[in-house]
Order: sequence, then structure tokens, then C-alpha cells
Amino acid sequence: MSEIKICCPKCKWEPDGGEYWQCDCGHIWDTFKTIARCPACHKQHQYTACVPHAGGCEAHSLHLDWYEGLDKIIEDLKEEVLENQEVFI
Ligand SMILES: [Zn+2]
Ligand SMILES: [Zn+2]
Repeated sequence: MSEIKICCPKCKWEPDGGEYWQCDCGHIWDTFKTIARCPACHKQHQYTACVPHAGGCEAHSLHLDWYEGLDKIIEDLKEEVLENQEVFI
């Protein structure tokens, strides 16, 4: 299995576990703990902002773009699924 690294796709800042993100409902939490879903109102956030005051930049990026290595894992899974299909058909 490939490793997933979480970092800003623009500046490569890595979240340090701090609670930097605020939902529209006012709740503040670490968005990477819940894959961008607010634990208070359960809103799924599509975009995640970088955190300038923690060393990041000002960019907003698609949440999934923060997961480096995810494309590779999805490719691996697809291959696995295809291989399994060949076995069972
Ligand atoms: Zn919320
Ligand atoms: Zn950034």
C-alpha cells in the first residue's frame, strides 16, 4: 500500500494537528480528522483553506487535493478490483 501524505497542494505546508478550520456554523476543528466534515453540523466541506498563521499560504484547495499519494492508492485499488474480477468471472 502507498503512503498518504497530507499537505497543501500549493505550498506543501503540512497540517500539524491544530484546530485551524472554522465551519459556517461557527465550529472550529481539525478538518483532517474528519475528512472535511464538520463534527457539529455534519456539513461536508469541498474546499480546505491553507493556514497562513501556522506557516502555510492563503490558497483554498479541494480537500482531496491535500492527500498526496491518493491517486496512486486509487489506481492500486482499481487494479486489485480488476484482478479479482478476472478470478471470479
Ligand atoms: Zn458546521
Ligand atoms: Zn498552502
